[in-house]
Amino acid sequence: MSALHRRNLLAGLTGLAAFCGGDALANTPAPKTVRKPAPLPRPKLVFLDPGHGGRDPGALGLRGTQEKSVVMAIARDLQKELLAGGRYRVLLTRSTDSFVALRERVARAQAAKADLFLSLHADSNDNPDVRGASVYTLSEEATDREAAALAARENRADAMISGMKLADKDDSVARTLVAMSQRGTVNDSRRLADTIVQTFNRNGFRLLPRTHRQAGFAVLTAPDVPAALVELGYLSNPQDEKLLTVRQHQLSLARALRASVDAHFAAGAATRKA
Ligand SMILES: [Zn+2]
Repeated sequence: MSALHRRNLLAGLTGLAAFCGGDALANTPAPKTVRKPAPLPRPKLVFLDPGHGGRDPGALGLRGTQEKSVVMAIARDLQKELLAGGRYRVLLTRSTDSFVALRERVARAQAAKADLFLSLHADSNDNPDVRGASVYTLSEEATDREAAALAARENRADAMISGMKLADKDDSVARTLVAMSQRGTVNDSRRLADTIVQTFNRNGFRLLPRTHRQAGFAVLTAPDVPAALVELGYLSNPQDEKLLTVRQHQLSLARALRASVDAHFAAGAATRKA
């Protein structure tokens, strides 16, 4: 660089500094923003319901696997998955190996104003060849005999353990359904169940034919809370029993359920905006 060039360059820089206010430029505070940041959306409250517990082991596998333990492991995985994204609060209807009555589970979700209720189970069948996951929502009329029998089995937990009478069950299902349809909870629950079926299908999980079924499940009767019950497989089937105890498979199920919850809320928000 020639001396002349250097002089011209320096003169140019000095002029620029003078134009910009020199050193003052570096100390100029950033202009204050008057606009308030948009409030963060309230995290959705997801209520997870690991079925059975305590004296009620639920279904038993041929190798001795207990439904209550398998569903608790997967509920814990799902809880971690949901919390990791920072978008949800998560509560469990039971966090230990303890017996909690079905109506108490419903009452807890309702009292906490849960945005979603997901009950996790594993099924059993006299035919050891029957396998695959299935998803259930509440209905007065069961879609088929198997769904009706399953609901009766799952509802028995209360009567078996705590001696509660189920005489008023049908009545309470009917009353809940009226309240639910007034509040749009029926459609939201069905949408949730269909989303889970689609996500499970995409992830290559084996599914029961007509995967989304309906029946009178006592645990799905919180009128304000969209709810589904997932049977994650059959402990009476040797392959399903093995899979349900494999950590990697438990994590895959939890991730697919988290993706379902994400998709459910995303679709709900899109519908409200439209
Ligand atoms: Zn169960």
